[in-house]
Amino acid sequence: MTRMDGEDTASEARPTRRDILGRALRLGGGLLAVGAIGLRPGAGSTAGPAQAQDPNTAIGMRFMRIGTGSTAGTYFPIGGLIASAISRPPGARPCERGGSCGVPGLIAVAQSTGGSVDNVGLLRSGAVDMALCQADVAYWARTGSAAFEDTGPMPGLLALARLYEEKIHLVVRADGDIERVEDLRQRRIAMGELGSGTLVDARLLLAAHGLTEVDILPVYDKPGPAADLLAAGEIDAFFFIGSAPVPVVAALARSVPVRLIGLSGPVVRTMADTQPYLTQGVVPGGLYTGVPRAVPTLSVGAVLVATDAMDTDMAYGVVRGLWHPNVRAQFQDDVVAGTMTPAKAPHGTGIPLHPGAQRYYEDEGYLP
Ligand code: GLU
Repeated sequence: MTRMDGEDTASEARPTRRDILGRALRLGGGLLAVGAIGLRPGAGSTAGPAQAQDPNTAIGMRFMRIGTGSTAGTYFPIGGLIASAISRPPGARPCERGGSCGVPGLIAVAQSTGGSVDNVGLLRSGAVDMALCQADVAYWARTGSAAFEDTGPMPGLLALARLYEEKIHLVVRADGDIERVEDLRQRRIAMGELGSGTLVDARLLLAAHGLTEVDILPVYDKPGPAADLLAAGEIDAFFFIGSAPVPVVAALARSVPVRLIGLSGPVVRTMADTQPYLTQGVVPGGLYTGVPRAVPTLSVGAVLVATDAMDTDMAYGVVRGLWHPNVRAQFQDDVVAGTMTPAKAPHGTGIPLHPGAQRYYEDEGYLP
């Protein structure tokens, strides 16, 4: 059986992103996709946007870390694309000659993490400078509600761009007998890893159907190991929230017949009506082997977030680099990044825009 939890398998699952994952470096146990250039182990490892003088060019450099998610999901490769888009290392070929169009002197890296909740904590402590986060998690974190009641509000959490739609995937074996959320009772379910947005919304979905983790046999694994456990028959279902096709689900579906449990009906409708930033959507048919028809589900926005520790000019430059026409042309090669546009980016972020991002969207006519 193929392992589904590593950079190798993730790159297999999404060949168009091989270039990003090929540049992944293992640094002290953490995994980084480096945008634009290779990075020496240890460089940029201090908290906060680090500044350094390049002894060769004497040009000031800044390092930024982007919190993403598991290497088997979509945040990690998209974070690598963003890192590449916003970087412009000293000596890089100029933008108008096909080179870097990002912030002069900036070197950004995408860092593997536990997902949305983990990323908010990393932003709060200054261990990353930007992150990908579900819009609902960003809203709860900023307001100190739901999963963030104990940690309290985080008014400095701000959005740079809404990027794309994520879908709740509830994956089961095709030969199993689970047809509805209610059938999860007393079954072995991978709920998402601790620190993930997947876990938060999986709990919400169970609660809406009158279930808690006491009623199931939960495990808290990353999506790669969860897919392996499902393939081996050691669990009955797993949750993952990510853009469809999720690489790890696509790889699993190619080796083991699977189904996606449809999320629809009055309970799901009420969730969409009452939970901020959850909307009803579908996983389109034909994206996964053996799943030919669209499956109803709930969607949530994936948002690039930062904090008020990022100054206005930097936020402006980051957003301008992200939406540069040359960069957007490169994004077209990627099934998820190809759906990202600056026109949609300032809306549905769950939290207010960073003033630098707001200025960019206004200057470019995307906001009045
Ligand atoms: N939305 C997921 C989470 O926050 C991660 C999605 C991904 O890695 O693509 O847990």
